[in-house]
Amino acid sequence: MSMNQYVFLVCTCVILIAIGIVLWYRQRTKRILKSLDKMLDDAICGEFKESVFDESLQSSVEAKLADYLSASLVSTHNLQEEKNKIKTLIADISHQTKTPIANILLYTQLLEEQELPKESRDCIEALGAQAKKLHVLIDALVKTSRLETGILSIHPIRTAIEPVLQDAVRQFTLKAAEKEIILDVEETKALAVFDPKWTNEAICNLLDNAIKYTPNGGAVSIKVIAYDMFCRIDVSDTGVGIEEREHSKIFSRFYRGMEQQIQEGVGIGLYLTRQIAEGQGGYVKVSSKPGCGSVFSLFLPKDER
Ligand code: ADP
Repeated sequence: MSMNQYVFLVCTCVILIAIGIVLWYRQRTKRILKSLDKMLDDAICGEFKESVFDESLQSSVEAKLADYLSASLVSTHNLQEEKNKIKTLIADISHQTKTPIANILLYTQLLEEQELPKESRDCIEALGAQAKKLHVLIDALVKTSRLETGILSIHPIRTAIEPVLQDAVRQFTLKAAEKEIILDVEETKALAVFDPKWTNEAICNLLDNAIKYTPNGGAVSIKVIAYDMFCRIDVSDTGVGIEEREHSKIFSRFYRGMEQQIQEGVGIGLYLTRQIAEGQGGYVKVSSKPGCGSVFSLFLPKDER
């Protein structure tokens, strides 16, 4: 064998060995990635179990992942427990304060019927107004905390939307008339899946706001638009409108618009409305510009899920 042939043979062997090593290495990396992928899939489904118990790297990764998962399970459990305790506490406090507030209101009314000097009368008026505000707040808190803790549940059924709208409108006829606001609901035959009692509460919150934030002589209307999957109930007003930067905030608990603090309110109506919508598989949206009125849209699912 000549020198050239010998060099060629050695080079070929080296190249073949190098290709072999690369292929083996790729195969090994693929195997490791596959087993990591399976471990993560199992962890996501909550079915992760250690399968290798030796000195290998895979065994060490599995052990660490198992430790991490059990630690995060404990902290999730603790967090949930804390959350439940806070919710129960809010529910208890709200429930316990209902009776004293009702009594304060009652005694205020009794005092109002007495012959009293003007200063005392002013004080009693202020006392009554604050007690009423507290009453509304506690009432809303009791409702939201009962919904959150599952004490009160939402039971959606497939039924007609119009009777719920008519019922809500009836409750606000007087309030609208006092401000000379035209209150109108368009006829509809649409059906959706919702809890009539809770949906009435949500529509009443939207109507209450629409009338409250619309100056005298304005208009408030309700109409329903049916889509493929949802029915949309629009509560529109010709009121003061809402700044774009406030659109995402107004659905938070206790948030009150900067400009609207002169109006009575506690900032919980829209929060409760959103909770009710989401509790029956729907959602709420707002479209509004300052000075151009607002449209609050409540979306309800058309079919059972
Ligand atoms: P509240 O009315 O008691 O303040 P809500 O949760 O019902 O609480 O509403 C939150 C805020 O959203 C209000 O303070 C107000 O700024 C704004 N808002 C709600 N509805 C309307 C509306 N129809 N027109 C203008 N602003 C509104």
